[in-house]
Amino acid sequence: MADVVIIGAGPAGIFAARELSMRSPGLDIVIVEQGKDIDERSRTGREMVVGWGGAGAYSDGKLTISTDVGGHLSCLLPEEDLLALLEEVDAVYASYETSGKVFSIDPDNAAAISAQARLAGLVYVPTKVRHIGTENCYTILKNLREVLGGKIRVIFNTRAVDIVAKDGKVTGVCLEDGTCIDAPFVIASPGRVGSSWMSSQAKKLGLDTHPNPVDLGVRVELPAVVMKDLTDKAYETKFIYYSKTFDDRVRTFCMNPYGEVVRENLGDIITVNGHSWANKRTENTNFALLVSADFTEPFDDPIGYGEAVATMANMLGKGVIVQRLGDLLTGRRTTASRLLKCSTYPTLKEATPGDLSYCLPYRILTDLIEMLSCLDKIAPGVNSAHTLLYGVEVKFYSNRIRLDGDLSTQVDGLYVIGDGAGITRGLMQASCSGIMAARSILKRSS
Ligand SMILES: Cc1cc2nc3c(=O)[nH]c(=O)nc-3n(C[C@H](O)[C@H](O)[C@H](O)COP(=O)(O)OP(=O)(O)OC[C@H]3O[C@@H](n4cnc5c(N)ncnc54)[C@H](O)[C@@H]3O)c2cc1C
Repeated sequence: MADVVIIGAGPAGIFAARELSMRSPGLDIVIVEQGKDIDERSRTGREMVVGWGGAGAYSDGKLTISTDVGGHLSCLLPEEDLLALLEEVDAVYASYETSGKVFSIDPDNAAAISAQARLAGLVYVPTKVRHIGTENCYTILKNLREVLGGKIRVIFNTRAVDIVAKDGKVTGVCLEDGTCIDAPFVIASPGRVGSSWMSSQAKKLGLDTHPNPVDLGVRVELPAVVMKDLTDKAYETKFIYYSKTFDDRVRTFCMNPYGEVVRENLGDIITVNGHSWANKRTENTNFALLVSADFTEPFDDPIGYGEAVATMANMLGKGVIVQRLGDLLTGRRTTASRLLKCSTYPTLKEATPGDLSYCLPYRILTDLIEMLSCLDKIAPGVNSAHTLLYGVEVKFYSNRIRLDGDLSTQVDGLYVIGDGAGITRGLMQASCSGIMAARSILKRSS
């Protein structure tokens, strides 16, 4: 038995446990995590996103302090309350020595970049960012593990298989080893990696859900000097573009100045991602360019669609494909010898030179090509033949579960939080969601 069972030890679950144990030290809190403890994890394969720290452990540690970015909590909370919560979470990360550097919004810089963007047909979204860096983010999550260690129970290497409810009320969680933990409160925070499982549980429990769009695209890599003017001023420069041909929403995402491109192993499929270190630099900058694909009736499986596109890329490239923009535009495959002639040196060595036009739908490719040419107007060199495109990058967002303002569900005592609820998409809002659920439980059990 426990007072609260938390499924998943990502930032959402960790912040929920931290809040509960800090405010009510007597509570019996159990975290069930399918992966390993943080010291035992490696940065390869599925372990990159599974284990203590979740996908946050090897993330870039970019904390975006904005109500517009990284999730939809602003639909549940008044803007000022969410901002206060974001500042509260930032203060927790900032309390560690290795908390990195804050890039605030300089109004003059923001106005200048906005004006340039407008002329190029883009919209600039200024954001305040704390950049912790991959190695430091890991250290902070490790510290949180040590702090929480004696206060909660953590069951590692064990998957939760079933959330149990009776008469509309949650009663506990059953684990893959056959044991069940009875509890009046369950917080499910399974992250993106657990999104399919969460969807099946939601269906079983009769929770209302609706699909989120899937974001599909590529990871762009180019010499850091091309983006230097922008990244020096704002670090994470977010641009939105509405494509001429399809009127689709295309956006830059997760910019990593002087960073590296990495493979992201999501179980059966391999996609691409990027990050940067706090104390180590490459010569390149990378960022994702993503198109939001939102489907209408009768199709309601955007996750399946994204998986199918990623599977096609994996089938052709035995993993991630890399292509020079020049080759894509002239309709030819990048080969190993063509890649050797590329003046942008790839930071991801395990990518197969190939042809993205074989796996990305025409619509997505057209959107990406249009946006690259717009970006070239504000950062000349983006549209160079030597710009590298890695594919595919896919952001799966779990089906969005109908939640109340405190992240509780239609099943009494069950909360679903973080990326697995389809309500958040980043470290900050995921962490905030943990605090929100914990506070609701504390209020109800006081
Ligand atoms: C390479 C990379 C870089 C990133 N960089 C950034 C960044 O710079 N800034 C940013 O804001 N975000 C970044 N992100 C995204 C960020 O890491 C996630 O948004 C965040 O970790 C979500 O937190 P979460 O707790 O909801 O889920 P997760 O961190 O995914 O944690 C979920 C946990 O639940 C466990 N789990 C799932 N199902 C079960 C089950 N059935 N039983 C037991 N355990 C289960 C998983 O093993 C996992 O440990 C990055 C992600 C990646 C992969």
